Amino acid sequence: MKKTEIVIIGGGVVGASVAYHLTMRGAKDVLILERGTAQGSGSTGKATGGVRAQFETEINIKMSLYSLDFLVNCGFDCAYEPRGYLFFATDEKQFDYVRRNVEFQKKIGVKDVEVVDKKEIEKICPILNTEDIVGGSFGANDGFVNPLAIMRGFTEQALENGAKIQFETQVSAIETEGGKVVAVATNKGRIECEKVVIATGAWAREIANTAGIDLPVSPQKRQIVWAKSEKTLPENLPMVIDIGSGFHFRPARDFVDHAANSDNTEVLFAYPDPDERESTDTDFDESFIGRVYEKAKHRSPFLFDTKIIREKCRAGLYENTPDHHAILGGCDVEGLYFANGFSGHGVMHSPATGKALSEIILDGKASFLDVSCLSFDRFAKGELLHETAFI
Ligand SMILES: Cc1cc2nc3c(=O)[nH]c(=O)nc-3n(C[C@H](O)[C@H](O)[C@H](O)COP(=O)(O)OP(=O)(O)OC[C@H]3O[C@@H](n4cnc5c(N)ncnc54)[C@H](O)[C@@H]3O)c2cc1C
Repeated sequence: MKKTEIVIIGGGVVGASVAYHLTMRGAKDVLILERGTAQGSGSTGKATGGVRAQFETEINIKMSLYSLDFLVNCGFDCAYEPRGYLFFATDEKQFDYVRRNVEFQKKIGVKDVEVVDKKEIEKICPILNTEDIVGGSFGANDGFVNPLAIMRGFTEQALENGAKIQFETQVSAIETEGGKVVAVATNKGRIECEKVVIATGAWAREIANTAGIDLPVSPQKRQIVWAKSEKTLPENLPMVIDIGSGFHFRPARDFVDHAANSDNTEVLFAYPDPDERESTDTDFDESFIGRVYEKAKHRSPFLFDTKIIREKCRAGLYENTPDHHAILGGCDVEGLYFANGFSGHGVMHSPATGKALSEIILDGKASFLDVSCLSFDRFAKGELLHETAFI
């Protein structure tokens, strides 16, 4: 039987960040257990790599500010491209919401975010049909990163610092005695440990259940259409998002084939399908293509004229919580910690998450940022947060 101090279940970008931050603080006995044969088989390998500070709540904005700064200065190449995020509104109510958000974001410390009018929107994104657009916001420091590079950067440094990673190891249960974590059961045998971090993304609920915790994390399919245009995309095209429908598009980045789209003709587009039910199904649904193109038809004839690259379209899982905010920290079971429920923002918030978990585990609470509003007990207390700027 093996023994270790801290087990991290899940070797995606979040588990890797927790391992990195723990070992940067001097923790040595850290073991990541990953059921796949390699890292990146979960949502991290499906993410498109958007980063932004344009959120509605203070905690999400602060998580982003810390994380963006980290990604720029961490020393490993995250392929950060500050292309910007353009949100646009099609009625005055939405535009008021945008104005309030921008004002609040600036107050919290977001730089280079501005309210933009229709003319400015046309300059930033010349391929939009703007006839029904009333205004929007543009955050110039928002942009794109490579999720796999971040995950690898965290992992390599954590391993160098003494952490270990074990593949093809599926955790089936977290064992507790007298309200304390004592071990995890796996297909490779039992591993005694004092602390467990659940970093299993969309599969967090089932594993938390084995320790008697009902963790409100629901998996939901998210799909991306990947297409090629005969014409070059506008130079410096940012991420562009319709606040009303969530329809969005951006230039494509292939994190495996880096030469792809070097001629700037490939684009990703998608929208959050309100009819998508809770499920762990990751098969790409062909009917999504027609529905996305239908939305593109009105918003951008340029996008409507693109040709689908079917083999690059994909589906992955969001890990949603009831208030679309992460669940970070401990619970009544001593030694059990959560790094879950990112509701589609897990890559961009992975640096702040790892930092928070390392401080909570080693010091009892996070001091770099007060993350107590993200604790698990907010659900029992009825202290849910409110964020509508999610896509
Ligand atoms: C289409 C799409 C686009 C997205 N775009 C963005 C974006 O632009 N920006 C952004 O920030 N986020 C984005 N996301 C969300 C982001 O991908 C996730 O929030 C993030 O990857 C979560 O990381 P994770 O490490 O928690 O989970 P994962 O990457 O899913 O890792 C969890 C790991 O746990 C392992 N595991 C599960 N159960 C067990 C078990 N019992 N035992 C052992 N191992 C186990 C899995 O194999 C997996 O490797 C997107 C997601 C999708 C689907």
